[in-house]
Amino acid sequence: MQPRVIDDPHELRSILRVGYQGRKVALVPTMGALHEGHLSLVAKAKELAEVVVVSVFVNPTQFAPGEDFESYPRDLEADLAALSKCGADLVFAPSVATMYPNYPGVDQVTINPGPTATILEGATRPTHFAGVAQVVAKLLHLVSPDLAVFGQKDAQQVSIVRQMVKDLAFPVDIVEAPIIRDADGLALSSRNMYLVGNERQDALALSRALQAGLGEMHSPLAMATAAFEILSVPGVQPDYAAVVTAASFDRLAVITKDSVEEFAVPDGPQDCYLLVAAKVGRARLIDNVKVVI
Ligand code: AMP
Repeated sequence: MQPRVIDDPHELRSILRVGYQGRKVALVPTMGALHEGHLSLVAKAKELAEVVVVSVFVNPTQFAPGEDFESYPRDLEADLAALSKCGADLVFAPSVATMYPNYPGVDQVTINPGPTATILEGATRPTHFAGVAQVVAKLLHLVSPDLAVFGQKDAQQVSIVRQMVKDLAFPVDIVEAPIIRDADGLALSSRNMYLVGNERQDALALSRALQAGLGEMHSPLAMATAAFEILSVPGVQPDYAAVVTAASFDRLAVITKDSVEEFAVPDGPQDCYLLVAAKVGRARLIDNVKVVI
């Protein structure tokens, strides 16, 4: 059954209050152009809650000038067809004017997403996570879910959202769901649509880099070095390979084309992420894997 589409937040709240009163609500925030990765988040949400709201909103504030906000793929009809198969109850698809009444002017009150927003993705995209935090805060307020499901694919985003929810006392549980990949290892991404010709093949460098890093588990620096080497091939412009702790996104090793940084490794085994980012053609791609170090 096709989920009901709502663009008005007041209507959404009254539907949730009246029609679904007392039921456990999960939110799955997306920017649309849905693929199996997004649908896996919906399935996870369905397991954990009785009502699943999927938001579809291409958030202008998380794109910097010159990035792909205008060209980002948008196809609500196709998204609804995909969602009709996986148990989403409501789709919240607001306009930019609804989410940002001042747009193209900026909000006066904004969220500072903290120090994690300045490293890795945030070093390359300095305004990105402030935009993410701003829109996620608004979505959490408008939907008031019991829990929200985010993908490990954007591990740094999950870390920042968790910190925001903790520091600003949002009454919501943040759930992280695993990365869904194509059969050849490429992590699904709406931006994979930008890959043309050989670029689809070249993009496999990211998942191969993670595999190479996993072969060098003796130190975070060795892992990042091995991963960065695999990214350094024709057709791929590497941005970084890095190892960070999962609990607090503390850097253990970061390699870019200009620098090699190694940080103190905490005692005792702990969950970490090995992360890579690179441009292939016009697509900026990210991927990661969880490891215990
Ligand atoms: P986006 O539409 O790119 O903003 O992504 C919406 C949500 O889907 C985010 O929480 C992403 O981390 C998640 N997501 C994107 N790609 C994947 C994937 N391949 N597997 C699992 N989740 C994903």
